[in-house]
Amino acid sequence: MSETIFSRIINREIPADIVHEDDQCLAFRDINPQAPVHILIIPKKAIPTVNDITEEDEKTVGHLYTVAARIAKEEGIDGDGFRTVMNCNEHGGQSVYHIHLHLIGGKALGWPPFPNG
Ligand code: 5GP
Repeated sequence: MSETIFSRIINREIPADIVHEDDQCLAFRDINPQAPVHILIIPKKAIPTVNDITEEDEKTVGHLYTVAARIAKEEGIDGDGFRTVMNCNEHGGQSVYHIHLHLIGGKALGWPPFPNG
């Protein structure tokens, strides 16, 4: 499986502003935040895209959401709300091929998210 920038962050080969780590996942602040809170929650298992998620990954992928809820509370955005997004492939706007849950909040977010059609 090809190495991505995110496996290098997991392995501490490049720095990141880490907000949570456990045996299954790592969460860190996005280097190019789109909102006051923009955190990426990634499994330690390198799954390239949503297309590659299998039944054996269900616990791990579900865990990303448990951690998202915990971080949202810690960041104080649980009450006002936030968005969780996992982009897939080119049309989804995926740029790093190691699945990651974006946790975005701290301001009112536009919807629909594709203003250019
Ligand atoms: P995608 O476009 O694949 O859904 O999201 C990838 C995200 O990773 C982008 O929001 C981008 O800003 C972020 N990102 C890319 N490289 C790095 C990095 O080296 N460090 C951090 N913290 N975020 C990164």
